[in-house]
Amino acid sequence: MTDQWDAGRLDSDLEGVGFDTLAVRAGQHRTPEAEHSEALFLTSSYVFRTAADAAGRFAGQTPGNVYSRYTNPTVRAFETRLAAMEGAEQAVATSTGMSALLAVVMSLCSAGDHVLVSQSVFGSTISLFEKYFKRFGLQVDYVPLADLAGWKGGLKANTKLLIVESPSNPLAELVDIRALADIAHEGGAMLVVDNCFSTPALQQPLKLGADIVFHSATKFIDGQGRCMGGAVAGRAEQMNEVVGFLRTAGPTLSPFNAWVFTKGLETLKLRMRAHCESAQALAEWLEHQDGVQKVHYAGLPSHPQHELAKRQMSGFGAVVSFEVEGGQEGAWRFIDATRVISITTNLGDSKTTIAHPATTSHGRLTPQEREAAGIRDSLIRVAVGLEDVADLQADLARGLAAL
Ligand SMILES: *Cc1c(COP(=O)(O)O)cnc(C)c1O
Repeated sequence: MTDQWDAGRLDSDLEGVGFDTLAVRAGQHRTPEAEHSEALFLTSSYVFRTAADAAGRFAGQTPGNVYSRYTNPTVRAFETRLAAMEGAEQAVATSTGMSALLAVVMSLCSAGDHVLVSQSVFGSTISLFEKYFKRFGLQVDYVPLADLAGWKGGLKANTKLLIVESPSNPLAELVDIRALADIAHEGGAMLVVDNCFSTPALQQPLKLGADIVFHSATKFIDGQGRCMGGAVAGRAEQMNEVVGFLRTAGPTLSPFNAWVFTKGLETLKLRMRAHCESAQALAEWLEHQDGVQKVHYAGLPSHPQHELAKRQMSGFGAVVSFEVEGGQEGAWRFIDATRVISITTNLGDSKTTIAHPATTSHGRLTPQEREAAGIRDSLIRVAVGLEDVADLQADLARGLAAL
């Protein structure tokens, strides 16, 4: 069925164009209807011209769509555009960010294989390994994100994947992706990066040597909190395995959501730039406020990995975390005093959100595990949206006044 990927080829007119042009144009093919916006093919199946055409398509001998669990033109447009933006040979869309990771591990690992996972990854990522993959004989060890010696020392002969998020949530720690890719390759393993927080607009891990990138498109790629979805991007060799799993198991993306994400990619860089500018301004302001003990943001010169962030990212992201006086009580008072910002753990939205990690996203950890992960009771996480930064600052000032 590899010829069905042809529908996901980049138009030859777009070879060599810039990132912004790809974000707006890649994946759209001119049709006889000459629609200007991307068409939405809201269909589960396709009509064959003849019985022989059906046989040819099923056998993979004639190009064309068969069934939307396999391919859909709208989904393909999203995949083609995202692949172009990540600098990937191919991308495939998934129903959520979690099913993107599920597809990577199910298609590339077998019972008895070993994976190394960063200690600082999305909570459901840890649960997926601990509760499910281990039951099927996968060996899993965890490594502190920035500890290159730890990654190297953790490799075994059967290590297949190294899995990281950089920058991490909520403390904005980084790992040197290029150095970690070298370590993975020396050990015969592949580096997988969850690029949800940065998006290809700020960081392109494949160009730094990573083998596979995956996304929760639910966050910044949508950018307005409407749809769930995800994607995996990488080289054809691995992507064929991932695609095979998705087509068989079925957590593929709905055409409607793909259409929303395709339009989201068009404005992604502009939105990310605005998110980053406001986050930078608020982080700098917070650092000088009484009542704030520490600010975690890679765009601050005080961040221990600021130089690395400048090297491997073109912007420092939307997420700013900070510790306030008064422990959990202070943090809760701060959060409850805000009037504009939404109290929710979601992020990657035009609306700014505020959350208390210790009692929400990281609430299932023991106090010792939270301490080890640096998630203090006084920590607040803000995912900066697109409102006027002066209004956001005024809202955070309400929080400070309530401490
Ligand atoms: C939200 C998120 C996920 C999971 O994505 P879903 O679309 O909710 O399944 C994975 N990784 C990171 C970093 C996330 O923020």
